[in-house]
Amino acid sequence: MVRFTVLASGSKGNATVVSGSRTSILVDCGLSCRELFRRMKLAGEEPEALDAIVITHEHSDHVNGVVVTARKLGIPVYFTEATHRAWMRWLSPRRQMSYAQWLELCRKQAAERQAEADASTDEGEPEEAGDLAESRSHAEEVEQSVAAEVPQEATPEAPTRQQGPTWLPAVEYFQAGQPFAIGDIDLSPFTIPHDAADPVGFVLKAEGVRMGYATDLGYISPNVKAQLRGVDLLLLESNHDLEMLRDGPYPWAVKQRVLSRVGHLSNEATAEFLENGYDGQAAYVILAHLSENNNLPELARGTAERALSGRASLLANRLLLAAQHEFLSGIYF
Ligand SMILES: [Zn+2]
Ligand SMILES: [Zn+2]
Repeated sequence: MVRFTVLASGSKGNATVVSGSRTSILVDCGLSCRELFRRMKLAGEEPEALDAIVITHEHSDHVNGVVVTARKLGIPVYFTEATHRAWMRWLSPRRQMSYAQWLELCRKQAAERQAEADASTDEGEPEEAGDLAESRSHAEEVEQSVAAEVPQEATPEAPTRQQGPTWLPAVEYFQAGQPFAIGDIDLSPFTIPHDAADPVGFVLKAEGVRMGYATDLGYISPNVKAQLRGVDLLLLESNHDLEMLRDGPYPWAVKQRVLSRVGHLSNEATAEFLENGYDGQAAYVILAHLSENNNLPELARGTAERALSGRASLLANRLLLAAQHEFLSGIYF
C-alpha cells in the first residue's frame, strides 16, 4: 500500500507524507512541529511512524518545523549539501540583524575562535541535555562532518553539540540527479529553477508507484518536464493568477521576483504544461502552493481543467487542490 498525504501547501508552510509499506517520509517540514503532529493525526498519519524528513530547499515555508520535529522523533534530515549550508546560515545569526551587522559578528567570532585556538585551552565538553543524550555519537559525527566542510567565515555559529540552533539528530546529503533510497522509497531529486541555494523537486517511487513533486519553480525547464514523465501522481505548483498578481497588493519588487524565471509557476504556466508538455499518465494531478493573496482555488482549478479538457486522453486525470490550512485526504495506490 502506497499513500500520499498533503498536510499543507503554500507560502505559510509545506509538508507531505509519502508512505510505502515499510517506510514513511515527510517531504518538507514547513509547519511547526505541534501543527504538523496535529494535522498528521487528523489525517490518520502517525508522527512516530516517520523515518526521515527530506527538504526541497531552505525557504522558511519548507523548513520551519524541521529542527523541533527531527529532534522530537530522533530521525534524520536529508538535504543537498548547499541547502543544508544555506539553512544553517539562515538560522545561525539572529535574523533581525542587518547583513552588515552579521558580517561584523562573523569577523568577531572568527577572531575569538582564533584567540581560543591560539591559547589552545583543553577544556572538557559541555554536558548533554538529558533526553537527547543517547544521540550523542550521531551528533558528534554530524558536527565533525559539518565542521570539516563548512568554511569558518561562512558559519558564525556552526552547530555545537545539542545546544546549537541547527543541531539535528542526523544529516544526510543527496545530490540532484543522483537517485537514492530511504527504506522502500526511491527518490530521484532534480534541479528546479527557483531563488534558493540548490532547490530540488522529486520523483518518489514506492512499490512501483511513481509520484512527482514540484513546487517553487519559476518555469518548467526541459529537465523538469522530462522528470515528470510517466508519473502516477503529479503534485505541481499553481501559485498565482497573473492578473491578480499584477493588480494585487505586493510591492513591485516582490511581483518581479514571483514572476521571474526563479520565482513561482502561474496558473497559466501550469495550464500550458498540462496542455502541451505533460504526458497525461497521472491518475491524480494535485495543484499546489497556491498563493493566498494572488490566487483563488476556483481560478487555479478552472484554468487547469480547461487545459486538461482540451485533451481527450487526459479526462481520466483526477484534479485535486492542496490547501494551506487543511490537509488533503490521503491518496492510496
Ligand atoms: Zn515555498
Ligand atoms: Zn521557495
